[in-house]
Parts: sequence; C-alpha cells; structure tokens
Amino acid sequence: MANDIAELRHAIHREPEVGLDLPKTQAKVLAALDGLPLEITTGRSLSSVTAVLRGGKPGPVVLLRGDMDALPVTEQTQLPYGSTVPGAMHACGHDTHTAMLAGAARLLSARQAELPGDVIFMFQPGEEGYAGARLMMDEGVLDAAGKRPVAAYALHVSSQRLPCGMFSTRPGAMLAAADRITVTVHGRGGHASTPHRAADPIAVACEMVTALQTLVTRKFDVFDPVVITVGSFHAGTTDNVIPDEARFLATARSFSRESRGALAELVPRLIGDIARGHGLTAEAVYATEYPVTINDAAEAAFAAETIAAAFGPQRSEQAEFPLTGAEDFSFVLEQVPGAFVMLGACPPDDDPLTAPTNHSAHAVFDDAALADGTALYAELALRRLARA
Ligand SMILES: [Zn+2]
Ligand SMILES: [Zn+2]
Repeated sequence: MANDIAELRHAIHREPEVGLDLPKTQAKVLAALDGLPLEITTGRSLSSVTAVLRGGKPGPVVLLRGDMDALPVTEQTQLPYGSTVPGAMHACGHDTHTAMLAGAARLLSARQAELPGDVIFMFQPGEEGYAGARLMMDEGVLDAAGKRPVAAYALHVSSQRLPCGMFSTRPGAMLAAADRITVTVHGRGGHASTPHRAADPIAVACEMVTALQTLVTRKFDVFDPVVITVGSFHAGTTDNVIPDEARFLATARSFSRESRGALAELVPRLIGDIARGHGLTAEAVYATEYPVTINDAAEAAFAAETIAAAFGPQRSEQAEFPLTGAEDFSFVLEQVPGAFVMLGACPPDDDPLTAPTNHSAHAVFDDAALADGTALYAELALRRLARA
C-alpha cells in the first residue's frame, strides 16, 4: 500500500487548502475511502470527514485523528509534487496525516470481521488556528459510533529534530496552551517636539513589552514555564507626530491550568497598571485559544509499548520536555484519554538538527515515514480494542 499512500499524499500536497473549507482535500479523502465498509458523514460547518468502521465483534470505540489543512505559506522546496497553489503549502505535513489515516482505514477495513469494537476516523480541517477539532466535536464526532471512545490518538510528523521514522511521545503535557493577547494603549497625540503636551502611547507600550518579560521571570515557577512573545507592534505614521494609539499582539504559551489562569489574570492587570502609572489607559484582551495538550499517562505508555512491539524499542523515544507548539487535538484529549505522538519525517540524508522546521517554506516531510505512520495508526486501534 505504501505507493498508494504516497500517491494520495502527493495529490493532496499539490493542491493545498487552508482553513475550514477544504473541498478538494475532502473529495480526495472520500475517493480514497470509497468502497470500504465505512459509515461516512461529512461536516456541515467545515469540510470534515467522519468515518466509522464497525468491527465484527462487540467492543469499545477508539478514535484516530488526522488533520487535513495547509498553511498560508508559498512553498520553496524543489519537490516534484510541490504545491501548485501560490500562497498555500502543506508546511506542517498534514497532507501526510490525511494520507496515513486513509491508509489505516483500508488496513483496518480488511480486518473488519476480527475487530472487537469500532473505530472512528476523524479527518479534520482547520487545525492551524481555526479550532476545527472543536467544531467537529460540536457536530458530534465523539458520538459518531453511538458511544464515547475509550481512547483517542493523533500522529504528527516533524520535519526536523527527530530522525526519520522515530516516534516520540510522553505522559502528561505534550504541547502548550496557546492564547492571544491583544493590547491597545490609548494616549493623546500631538507634536513630537512637545511630548509633555501629549500622552505618548509608544513609550508606554514599549514599557509593557519589556514588563511582560519581567512578569514571565518573576511571577511564574521556572519548572512550570510560560512563554510570551510580542509578534506584532504597530503605532504612528512618521517621526514628528505622536499618535493617539499603539497596539500590539502577543502569544502566550503555558503548560498547566494554574499558569494559564495566572496569565489570564496578571497580564491585563499589568497592562492596565502601567498605562495608569503614566496617566494613560489601555486594555488587554486575553483570548483563550488552544488548551494544553495532555497525554493520558496510561495511553502514552500504551502508545510507546505499541511502537516498540510493532517496530522495535529503538524506534520509540520518550520526549524529555513538552513542545511549545499547540494543537486543537487538546480539545479531544480534554474529553477522551489518549495520546499525541510525533513521528520524525526528516529526509534521511538531512541532519534533523538543522533541517527546516514545520511551517517553514522549505520544510520537507519524507515519504519514508508514511508506511510506518499508517501502520501505527492501525496498530493503535487494533491493539487498544483487543486489550479493552
Ligand atoms: Zn502546524
Ligand atoms: Zn500541525
């Protein structure tokens, strides 16, 4: 099947789609599943595909998830199957997840009679900032088989750090929570030569940017880290005018409910107090986006055992630390115990430590990882159902 999986992956890669509406990708998934003994439904508010495989024997339900969306990046690789759509690229490797999950649906369908339970295949749009997983949950993906899954698993490829074919997971926090802070500082514009007659929002906003870094080091336990990065800062038009307003955006990453709660409380207070200290006003809107992705300890151990049994113990590493990226599979893991597993897909001839990262216009995910990723999806479902 490896060639079929790679072909499907290449077809999806050539025509990347961004966001929640992925009609071409959805059509390719439906074509790949055509003829399999699956109960298929498609999403209403997004172009998702939910497929249920009913096992021949009674048993529990396991959910497997693959995300389908691309990023607004113009591909700079020289791959023969490179993106044909300017401004869109599968730079996070979700094309591989979609193809591997479709391959797993085929593998498991061939064993339908012996399956002791049901499998939900969750083909999900809109992972990259659109919370597509939550929308699919609103539309009932967790109840697609008639009862809640006992376990849920997701695979994610990495173009760097991990050697090709190396699986990596850990118990507990696997990925960060990602929240957005939107700050507006209200001053009073005027002539740049007489700042005392105006209220300069730029100087105050700059003080906020550095104060946020002090907040990180003075208010949070170093063993429960947080990251705040101001990624956008806008104010003013020219050198001799003080503007009325300054605005900036920041991302806040955290790994525990406690730290996330503290961020939501302390950041707006700090912003407001700094503005007041200078006689200005400001608001900081702390918008929660993706929660911490928390692997269930037993399910992470089960995933590691499954990798070792299927591929050998040398193919599984326990990640020492969580990653500071974020995932909307976290919403699924808030309701169903499960595990998020990384899979190295760096081209075998490249150095994983220097290869371009996920989201880079140069990121390459090698086909060599596809067959094993497909097999792991299938093994996780098969072994978990058999064990339950
Ligand atoms: Zn991504
Ligand atoms: Zn991703």
